[in-house]
Amino acid sequence: NSSVTLSLRLIPYSENLWLLVARDVSRMLHLEQMRRDFVANVSHELRTPLTVVHGYLDMLDPEEHPDWAPMLAEMQRQSQRMTQLVEDLLTLSRLESQGSLPEEENIAMGAMLTTLAREANALSQGKHEVTVDDSSEGLDLWGGHKELHSAFSNLVSNAIRYTPAGGSVHIRFRREGSGAVLEVSDTGYGIPPNHLPRLTERFYRVSTSRSRESGGTGLGLAICKHVLNLHQARLQVTSEVGRGSTFSCHFGAERVRPREAIEVLP
Ligand code: ADP
Repeated sequence: NSSVTLSLRLIPYSENLWLLVARDVSRMLHLEQMRRDFVANVSHELRTPLTVVHGYLDMLDPEEHPDWAPMLAEMQRQSQRMTQLVEDLLTLSRLESQGSLPEEENIAMGAMLTTLAREANALSQGKHEVTVDDSSEGLDLWGGHKELHSAFSNLVSNAIRYTPAGGSVHIRFRREGSGAVLEVSDTGYGIPPNHLPRLTERFYRVSTSRSRESGGTGLGLAICKHVLNLHQARLQVTSEVGRGSTFSCHFGAERVRPREAIEVLP
């Protein structure tokens, strides 16, 4: 491939002179593509061996080997974590290589909020108060269902994982001008302001030990940001240490639709 990609910049030089600076970025783009392909290939290759390990581990009955029970449980936990990591890496590679959404459809937000609340309750195991509020006055979103569900799910799972037992998590969908916002607020640990700009970088973590313990892969917010980019939407975070955080996804007018009327049979 002999094509060259140039980055062009126009810089004012003097009153009636401008400088045109051209930089060859082909190699940089090529290396970036190689990095993406490498991550995608490695993740894909890890899938099969992991499935095998996981399968055999499931066959070992801890009741037959009581001495091994704690080791088996830990091996299972770690292999599950690795599987999740591989799946998240594959999701991220797919999102990065996609310039647009494979499929767009109407997303029934009432059902979406119910699903998110169910997931939050399952993860919390009754340790948090989970509330949902739809104040959009009949709006739905338009976009990738699977993608948006995974973005919102990541925010909800973070809210539960970074909020100590007894705290609460609130999921809200509301209007904003001619667009709409999905908001996930928690009363958890909060995030110091200096960390906020870097949260969506892959594997960036505020507290490594707390994040590892909480069971995440370090890719949740990177996935969320990519999904929102594909919807021309924006992720905003406000947080106060010791009080909690709010993650909000802001969608423009082109992403909202009046809620589809449900036909009620006589
Ligand atoms: P992880 O799998 O580590 O949770 P994420 O990409 O989802 O990865 O989040 C990146 C980091 O941002 C987390 O490790 C955590 O430090 C911080 N974080 C994310 N959500 C919250 C939240 N609701 N409250 C406090 N910290 C959060």
